[in-house]
Amino acid sequence: MLCVEEGGAVGRDVPDERDRIEAASRLVGTLYTCGEWVLPAVIEGIIASGELAIESLEELIRSDIEGKGVTYSGLIFAVRLLGRLGSEGSVPVLIDLLRHYDEYILDDIARALGTLRPSAVEPSLALVADRELSWYQRGAAIEAAMEAARGDVALVERVRTALKAELEALISRSAEVTEDEEAVGAQIVSALADLGNLEDWPLVEAAYDAGVVEDEYIDRETSEGVFSNGLEPIRPMPLVEYFDTYPKQYAAYVAQIDTLLRIAKNIPIPGRNDPCWCGSGKKYKQCHWADDQVASRPLWQA
Ligand SMILES: [Zn+2]
Repeated sequence: MLCVEEGGAVGRDVPDERDRIEAASRLVGTLYTCGEWVLPAVIEGIIASGELAIESLEELIRSDIEGKGVTYSGLIFAVRLLGRLGSEGSVPVLIDLLRHYDEYILDDIARALGTLRPSAVEPSLALVADRELSWYQRGAAIEAAMEAARGDVALVERVRTALKAELEALISRSAEVTEDEEAVGAQIVSALADLGNLEDWPLVEAAYDAGVVEDEYIDRETSEGVFSNGLEPIRPMPLVEYFDTYPKQYAAYVAQIDTLLRIAKNIPIPGRNDPCWCGSGKKYKQCHWADDQVASRPLWQA
């Protein structure tokens, strides 16, 4: 809100940077306690704060790593928001978080790292080579590296070379390769197939022959198909698009609660042209009718 005084001087009620940092920090603070559905306005405010929100988001993640208990959903939102804000300085904290968890938040970490290009490529590749990590963590690192390199010929080549070296190392140690490492082998094969350079096919075949690729993840036939047909890999929704869609998903979620509340209170459904039960004054068919159609199904069919 700009308030311009006589003579063109800017008035005192314009928020200064300190106010904005404070606001960003308090918006991020709500992520400590939120459930799965963060208020869209909070998301909007954090995105509008831009760079000013980054420190608070990183702090939230650090405090979780130190065991200070952030809700898991809040943590996932913090990770996605860091990816959305796209500051390359956030790579180290996301890498630390990737080392810290061995569960599904890894998919979100990979997605966020993937947007922090190109600086996420090398740290992600270092994790791919780290045998202390689980297959899930190393797989997330592969995804992050692939996404962070996407569209840059030299970086894609760098990722491809690193993945091939990793697969060669697995083949050379095939006698001692664990099941966990076979899953890593499968993820490398899958990534190489997505890159679709047919020169890599003999190496992939050698990996199958050596038994270092988990078949159930991707079998030889599927790999060959992806290599030769150049199928587009399935990629998660870009974070910009995700945060554009979120308010609509939130509205649908709220509408469902309204409807469930109506059922719980035993409020009868009105006629299509009668006023809606919610008190909006609109006709039922123009208000909660569509939401009721979805939410009135038995919960186990939702
Ligand atoms: Zn209504």
